[in-house]
Amino acid sequence: MPERFELAERLKRLPPYLFAEIDKKKREVRARGVDVIDLGIGDPDLPTPPHVIQALQHAALDPENHRYPSYEGMLAFRQAVADWYAKRFGVTLDPESEVLTLVGSKEGTAHMPLAFVNPGDAVLVPDPGYPVYAAGAWFAGGEVHFMPLRREHGFLPDLDAIPPDVARRARLMYLNYPNNPTAACAGREFFSRVVAFAERHGVIVCHDAMYSELRFDGYEPPSFLEMEGARQVGVEFHSLSKTYSMTGWRIGFCVGNARLVAGLGKVKTNVDSGVFQAVQYAAVAALTGPQDASERYRKIYQERRDVVVEGLRALGWEVDVPKATFFVWVPVSKGLDSRAFATRLLDEVGVVVTPGVGFGPSGEGFYRIALTIETPRLAEAMERLKRLRL
Ligand SMILES: *Cc1c(COP(=O)(O)O)cnc(C)c1O
Repeated sequence: MPERFELAERLKRLPPYLFAEIDKKKREVRARGVDVIDLGIGDPDLPTPPHVIQALQHAALDPENHRYPSYEGMLAFRQAVADWYAKRFGVTLDPESEVLTLVGSKEGTAHMPLAFVNPGDAVLVPDPGYPVYAAGAWFAGGEVHFMPLRREHGFLPDLDAIPPDVARRARLMYLNYPNNPTAACAGREFFSRVVAFAERHGVIVCHDAMYSELRFDGYEPPSFLEMEGARQVGVEFHSLSKTYSMTGWRIGFCVGNARLVAGLGKVKTNVDSGVFQAVQYAAVAALTGPQDASERYRKIYQERRDVVVEGLRALGWEVDVPKATFFVWVPVSKGLDSRAFATRLLDEVGVVVTPGVGFGPSGEGFYRIALTIETPRLAEAMERLKRLRL
């Protein structure tokens, strides 16, 4: 007999949730009384800056803000985004037509294919990558073509390796730099090649720039939109989640090509009703107010990064020093796959890391450490790794 509430094909086609295995294991090990150190969570542990919270409190008292917000977001917020882009990247945006408010950037990246991908169109997706890109493409009936990110290419996709028939059918390409999970950064030279590729093949570029502000050693990751011609081919996704430790607040934005922004807006008009205005006012305070908190966050993550990189190197593990993001992407010791490695780490020394294969097949051979716990705990985790017998 068929199941009564059979899932739709689009859900059945999603790959199995690989982290479920590690979540279960984590509970088992905790139940044994082990003090588990969790380096698996990509969610800032540092609190939202106080002046942002105050702006929310203030705005929440105003009945004007209790009603439905506008779909595209308040002009005050979109103007703040445009001003921030001008200041940070030297990119001029029209707040009315080139900026759209999102319920977090995850929402926008997931909905984008619904606006522009037809069944059978190819969608180019980085592998390893944030799982939302492939899911969004599948939900729209697109065919996902994974672009492997390899260490020997600096974890940038090899555009020349995309087969001609795929490039011909490609409608949309996702990119994400600074990158989750590899922590790699892309330079302007790579972005210009992406613009040329997009022009040649009529591909829409969706760049997820989520981590552009979690940057270290004075490095300033560029915006894709700085490139000549970029605005003709794509958009950039961003949010306040990581920069201002606001993951729970759910506010982000999509900027760039006006037709693309409008198309995404049209999907959203039909599925959500915008972001609570008090949250938008708080986001304005974050973008336009003092930036000392995010400067402090950068220092803290950088200090943690150094503890991890030095710890791993002392153990003889070769690891690239991230210039941005709060992740470290580490090669697995020879002879083990990333899941087996993560399981042994948890079993033998009570440390949780994320196996690279969870981000796609090309993530195999690596694991991800998130720098979202206090420095002493990270140092303790590095100490524990010494006890691991591989
Ligand atoms: C955290 C993360 C997001 C989600 O951002 P929200 O604005 O909180 O939805 C998007 N992309 C990447 C690569 C992320 O790591």
